[in-house]
Amino acid sequence: MSNKTVKTIFITGGVVSSLGKGIASSSLGLLLKQRGLRVTILKLDPYLNVDPGTLSPYQHGEVFVTEDGAETDLDLGHYERFLDINLSQNNNSTTGRIYHNVIERERKGEYLGKTVQVVPHITDEIRKAIDRAASSVEDLDVLIVELGGTVGDIEGLHFLEAIRQYKLDKGRDNVINLHLTLVPYIKTSGEIKTKPTQHSVQKLREIGIQPDIILCRTERALPDEARRKIGLFCNVSSEAVIEARDAESIYEVPVLFEEEGLAKQVIDLLKLNQKEVDLKELKDLIFHIKHPEKKVRIAVTGKYVELRDAYKSIIESFIHAGVANKAVVELLWVDSEEVEHGKAEDLLKDVSGLLVPGGFGDRGIEGKISAIKYARENDLPFFGICLGLQCAVIEFARSVCGLEHANSREFNPNCDEFVIDFMEEQVGVTRKGGTMRLGAYPCVLKEGTLARSIYQVPQISERHRHRFEVNNNYRDCLEKHGMVISGTSPDNMLVEMVELPSKRWFLAGQFHPEFKTRALRAHPLFKSFVKAALDYQEETK
Ligand code: GLN
Repeated sequence: MSNKTVKTIFITGGVVSSLGKGIASSSLGLLLKQRGLRVTILKLDPYLNVDPGTLSPYQHGEVFVTEDGAETDLDLGHYERFLDINLSQNNNSTTGRIYHNVIERERKGEYLGKTVQVVPHITDEIRKAIDRAASSVEDLDVLIVELGGTVGDIEGLHFLEAIRQYKLDKGRDNVINLHLTLVPYIKTSGEIKTKPTQHSVQKLREIGIQPDIILCRTERALPDEARRKIGLFCNVSSEAVIEARDAESIYEVPVLFEEEGLAKQVIDLLKLNQKEVDLKELKDLIFHIKHPEKKVRIAVTGKYVELRDAYKSIIESFIHAGVANKAVVELLWVDSEEVEHGKAEDLLKDVSGLLVPGGFGDRGIEGKISAIKYARENDLPFFGICLGLQCAVIEFARSVCGLEHANSREFNPNCDEFVIDFMEEQVGVTRKGGTMRLGAYPCVLKEGTLARSIYQVPQISERHRHRFEVNNNYRDCLEKHGMVISGTSPDNMLVEMVELPSKRWFLAGQFHPEFKTRALRAHPLFKSFVKAALDYQEETK
């Protein structure tokens, strides 16, 4: 291990939530990585859940799964996609996990009779989480730590105290604080307002944290006068007040930050070497996002459709796959319960593809199944992800294999044809947190299949998050009727991919390919699916 000091950048948020701290962290990370630095990012979340795995998508959006099977905050998806790196369990921690570790240690008697307290025991545990992230990458240069929530929240206090101590210990050349705030524009007076930023920074300084850089989220250009004012009141130079203007695409944010000199400031403060940066690939991506040659509509049928954050990685996958096809994908969000009550045809007649994403529970399932039936019968390109595969198998078993009552044990525990059933290791598991089949698993692809032709390799690895799987007792029956099992676990015990070769593009995976899409490297399945939808559109519309 090298003994060089890892430089640490803490990013906090002020005034309101949803300012895009995750994108800001990812963008800064990208700008540093493009300068040849080794960068990783840690997300600290103030809530008490040990991880977001048990949270409803309505509460927290998508649960992002890492290679090593950690169920993490969706910001880790942005970090992976922007920086093109794989993260792990070490890149996300919560108040719940921190307390869990401390309390476990207390139960083991490891505090030797001491009173266990927020300071120093919880703060020490937070610092351990930061150190763990810093040592998770060999020869790391920069660790970015994004703190969830907003400054002023009671639940963020222990993290801020740990951050204050961290800087004190490591020194100001090694640790900086970046504060992202909102500078609102008030239409009626035609002015932008700096007061909320001043108050938010005041709050930080009360705790003993002086921000080094202030990133101002704003819909309008930040005039010099406002920069000077913010700098003066917040005790930083006006060069350290940086505009973070609203962007059409999240991929423009690093370019805007570069123009504003953010990375240059950071590098100066951390006494790193200045270097030129080449953002050509990113600029090409932005160009193609903004200037698509074609447009195609694809329906996504899920039960959380009113909350787009629940499908964040899928949305990004379609942006990347669209660019790879010089097209823009317009997603039509179809509530699966609506399909249950209406006719699939009415809802799907104007689209050129159907994607059924992952999900849990029985709500809306019959709607998903009838949407898949419509796609199969009308040869509409279909892509099933996890629950989407399970629904496709149920639909096929019912409609083609004649198993009228086919279902999953998850949706109807009293049915007598469990084509989808518990995985063996799930029988008897009652604890919910972290107990699914999680993380990356290998999958062997059958020769001569669509899957194999898309991936072009005999074995792949994809990330999982589920409890149920195709029941092996029904494999023969499914295959006899024309469903091809194109991907299995290497021991052939688990069905990982299915497809219908009689259809133009009908494919499903038990895994979540959307977790592996990257800004400059669209996932092959999404890329191929979008191409199939474009071909379908050309032929039929
Ligand atoms: N609910 C299904 C299972 O647990 C599918 C999960 C998913 O789509 N991620 O197996």
